Amino acid sequence: MNEQHHDVVVIGLGGVGSAVFAELSRRGIDVLGIDRFESPHQNGSSHGQSRIFRVAYFEHPDYVPLARRSRELWCALQDRNQQRIFAKTGGAWIGDPDCEIVAGSILASEQHDLEHELLAPDEVRRRWPALNPPDDSVCFFERQSGVLCPENAVEAFMNEGVEAGGTIRRGCKVTRLELDGTGILLETGKDRIHAERVVVAAGSWSSGLIEDDRVKLQATRQLLGWTRARDRDLLKEGRVPIWAFADEPDSFQYGFPICDGFPGPSAPKVARHCDGEPCDPDTVRRSIDAADEAFLLRNLEQHVPAASGPLEHATVCLYTLSADHHFVIDQHPRNAKVVMACGFSGHGFKFCPVLGEAIADLVLEGGTERPIGFLSRERLG
Ligand SMILES: Cc1cc2nc3c(=O)[nH]c(=O)nc-3n(C[C@H](O)[C@H](O)[C@H](O)COP(=O)(O)OP(=O)(O)OC[C@H]3O[C@@H](n4cnc5c(N)ncnc54)[C@H](O)[C@@H]3O)c2cc1C
Repeated sequence: MNEQHHDVVVIGLGGVGSAVFAELSRRGIDVLGIDRFESPHQNGSSHGQSRIFRVAYFEHPDYVPLARRSRELWCALQDRNQQRIFAKTGGAWIGDPDCEIVAGSILASEQHDLEHELLAPDEVRRRWPALNPPDDSVCFFERQSGVLCPENAVEAFMNEGVEAGGTIRRGCKVTRLELDGTGILLETGKDRIHAERVVVAAGSWSSGLIEDDRVKLQATRQLLGWTRARDRDLLKEGRVPIWAFADEPDSFQYGFPICDGFPGPSAPKVARHCDGEPCDPDTVRRSIDAADEAFLLRNLEQHVPAASGPLEHATVCLYTLSADHHFVIDQHPRNAKVVMACGFSGHGFKFCPVLGEAIADLVLEGGTERPIGFLSRERLG
């Protein structure tokens, strides 16, 4: 076996790991980023053309300062890169006044003094003829929202990290993480890697590496679809923002305008945020059947008639749910030089760059000024 040494090893080069890798490398650290697949790839959580960025955080107002900083960092990343990463489209969250996506967004806005508009259904139809809100609904509109492209972002983070001197290894699985000895040892099929510090950002595969009974993670199967839309013109960027309709308790249907410069189908993308079907990330069913198509298209005709049509393409993606659906970012209880960053529960992508900063601080200095205390493992009891 080859013997290697690095100051910091980042396991996983998805959205979170690649951002941490870039940040550590920019700080002049000898960092190795390692991924079992050829990142960016389609097997984890950071693929599928688009992700929602928003600031008025309906899941919990404590995320707002992180989202604000993240937006600054996304804009800066976009300015430094040719490839498109962030499209500033705005976002419209529609539902009963007391549903989570509306009431939670209002709460976060009030607590953090965020600019927003509350729109009646007629006004929504007038501004964005693609959308057809129910008559008794209200729309929370946030101009700061936008569409992130996960593939282009991961590529940009990796490129910047390598340009700053970091090393990446793709198609190389970490098979063992030994963190109880004097140093930290990682094994792959061919190498033994000695590290001073480690970040585990392995998405749905994190449990097997961190082996922490307090941090229970569940991977779930999620669907993304692109439709052969009835009226493409109404769905182009500039004519419609990102939309979300609360349609069931704990679930909402959402979709994206057609944005230029992103990889994948040139069509509106639709999805539904919900817990999803528990799965094993290694054996999850990747094929799409008629029930999946019906699930993706449910209520679309009613809410976004312009986007209605059969699926042109669909794919599977993974959520990694923590017990309370909030992230877990903390030092490992058996070795403080190992930091875990997992449990992103289907809403982590927008925070990648700010998490890059916070996790780099945590692994190098043992603490961070970024307000991530509410994401510690202690809360999980
Ligand atoms: C359908 C869907 C929609 C989403 N929508 C949004 C949204 O609109 N907004 C938002 O903010 N978030 C959204 N999310 C969530 C967001 O995409 C995830 O929180 C984020 O991508 C998680 O990134 P990650 O780096 O933790 O995981 P991943 O991207 O899965 O990366 C983990 C990496 O670790 C690697 N790895 C695992 N084990 C090993 C090992 N043993 N050795 C080496 N490498 C290993 C994997 O290959 C993988 O590349 C969505 C997620 C999905 C699935």
